[in-house]
Amino acid sequence: MPTIFDIKRFALHDGPGIRTTVFFKGCPLRCRWCHNPESHNTEPEEYPDLRQVDGKEISITRIYGKKVTHAALMEEILKDKVFYLESGGGVTFSGGEPLMQPGALIELLEAAGSEGLHRAVDTSGYAAPETLLQAAAYTDMFLFDLKLMDPEKHKACTGVDNRLILANADRLLQRGAEVIFRIPVVPGINDTVQEMNDFFSFFRQREGQFREVHLLPYHKTGAHKYRRLEKEYDFGDMETPGDEWMQRLREQIESAGVLVTIGG
Ligand code: SF4
Repeated sequence: MPTIFDIKRFALHDGPGIRTTVFFKGCPLRCRWCHNPESHNTEPEEYPDLRQVDGKEISITRIYGKKVTHAALMEEILKDKVFYLESGGGVTFSGGEPLMQPGALIELLEAAGSEGLHRAVDTSGYAAPETLLQAAAYTDMFLFDLKLMDPEKHKACTGVDNRLILANADRLLQRGAEVIFRIPVVPGINDTVQEMNDFFSFFRQREGQFREVHLLPYHKTGAHKYRRLEKEYDFGDMETPGDEWMQRLREQIESAGVLVTIGG
């Protein structure tokens, strides 16, 4: 039974058309800028909150995450089937890291496929190669995150080395999978001249093998969740990169001969 922490209907930025995005709970990375800290642990988590009752504030306990049956999830996904079919949309499995629950993910991918839905998997790429390739057999599109190119910096900022991630990206490309690379642009972390040059080289060497690149500007909408979960967040003062800067990065990556979109 999958453990999820959210479902978003009518999502427009997680693949083509109108989609439902299912967010799996659990992630092997700990990106310092992550705006979904409630996705990190695999089990549901409690946090204290306040609620208004008859004009008074009372303390309550809320929960991030729940276990749901495949049947219940598919029922929710299929509610909007008519919109997927009209818009070229479908379902996206995101997280956290959906490949951390491979059995549940593959069962859902198969079920969505048997309903004729377009299926996307949004992944950090940090997964056992056999798990990734097994999922690829039932996936129409990967939204594949690239955070940093330098392995040491990657480890310092996300908790893991990126060699497995980059090798997995190539495994998907060699298999002919449809891949969109997504870079969360985090000011001062991965938008430096060196990092952008490294991204440029990576894409240039793989020109024609993937569909496009999405540049996703960092935003700090998750800061309040860190407070609720009593976790430290050292990105609270960082600003979202401006439009002009995002355009410059876009032009630089585009010069590698790839299509670049700002946002999803
Ligand atoms: S991979 Fe995504 S969900 Fe996991 S820590 Fe990084 S930003 Fe958060």
